[in-house]
Amino acid sequence: MRKKVIKNAFIVNEGKIIPGDVLINGERIEKIASHISITNEDVSEAAGTYLLPGFIDDQVHFRDPGLTHKADIYTESRAAIAGGITSYMDMPNTVPNTLTQTLLEEKYALAAKKSLANYSFFMGINRDNLEEALKTNHEDICGITDDGLYFSGEGNILANQPDYLEKLFSRVETLVALHSEDESIIHQNFLKYQDKYGENIPFSCHHLIRSEEACLTATQRVLDIARKYQNRLHFFHISTLAEAQLFDNKTPVSEKRITAEACIHHLYFSDEDYEKYGAYIKWNPAIKTKNDKDGLLNALINNKLDIIATDHAPHTIQEKNQKYKQSMSGGPLVQHALPALLELFHERKIGLEKIVEKTSHHVAEIYRIQERGYIREGYFADLVLIDLESPWKVSTDNILYKCSWSPFLNQTFKSKIAKTFVNGHLAYDNGFFSEEIHGKRLKFSKIR
Ligand SMILES: [Zn+2]
Repeated sequence: MRKKVIKNAFIVNEGKIIPGDVLINGERIEKIASHISITNEDVSEAAGTYLLPGFIDDQVHFRDPGLTHKADIYTESRAAIAGGITSYMDMPNTVPNTLTQTLLEEKYALAAKKSLANYSFFMGINRDNLEEALKTNHEDICGITDDGLYFSGEGNILANQPDYLEKLFSRVETLVALHSEDESIIHQNFLKYQDKYGENIPFSCHHLIRSEEACLTATQRVLDIARKYQNRLHFFHISTLAEAQLFDNKTPVSEKRITAEACIHHLYFSDEDYEKYGAYIKWNPAIKTKNDKDGLLNALINNKLDIIATDHAPHTIQEKNQKYKQSMSGGPLVQHALPALLELFHERKIGLEKIVEKTSHHVAEIYRIQERGYIREGYFADLVLIDLESPWKVSTDNILYKCSWSPFLNQTFKSKIAKTFVNGHLAYDNGFFSEEIHGKRLKFSKIR
């Protein structure tokens, strides 16, 4: 393979923005310098654009196997690299649910054949597979989680099972990532709004049903148990300011035992948007108030929250376009997450260095991902070139998700993803894909 050089980019890395060149040799970054001149290399002239380490998304639902009418590993990993996401971690609520080590390895085999981005898959845990879940090897697997498994029945959100969490936290050596909402509070709220509206509950009630209280109660309960055992715990998709305030920002991220994230939709939309978007912004946990939205961003900036994820969770348009109760929660995001975050940059709400920290550096720290998450010599060349001043409009012609819709339809983004390199391979180049080389399985260092 010929060496490649990215010339004159603004390199955004480890808290700094420095103009320079990056030399890629095979899968890895060979050299970073202010000026690199080698003959016979492939040159990407990048003056005026910004080079970021690839977005590592720790929470996606690619629906493969078993729900491939919604999405599959090929289509969604393709959309991900067009969005600057070079690695992802996928959830266990596929069909069958990923509740055994054998089913888990089958997903890795599927990804080796189909994934254009680097990948890892969470082992699923429910009330019945504790021993199987505890076999998970933390150098090979990102972690274990209950996320999404509650779709197969109430009582599967482990945050509602304190006795079970005690058993799990006292024994587990792997990172555990949880979906934290209190189901009994949600159920009571739902009955109240059903009484009031019958079948026609407005979508604007979603955050009153899946309420702040439901989130805060569950998160506080889980935190109390985890602080006792000091196991490695990560909270997915924190959606309220009240929860964000529960977390520690004194300990460096690489030493934290308890970490937490915010998701793009909770940073971008608020309850003021339900009237316009309805079902298209119905997520679990729900999008809450403007105060929560602003509070989550502040909590990221002051390090109470550690990372940003997408919770990419596609459904078909028919599955979304239903009455409140039937309309499925979740929506596709991987293609538009980074452009949406860059809108917040243009609004001067977050810096590029911070975006990179929360979408790449700290994800690598939290999961102990080997040789990724930074632009460093010797590391894998997972890189994204972005053009901050290249407006484009989201349209049905350029949406890449298998479900072919987006809550961002007709939105104009100021920034576009120009190129995405995955393991040194130019996988995405201004609308064109190079698909002959697949992504790799992520590797992890030991948990301390
Ligand atoms: Zn979840």
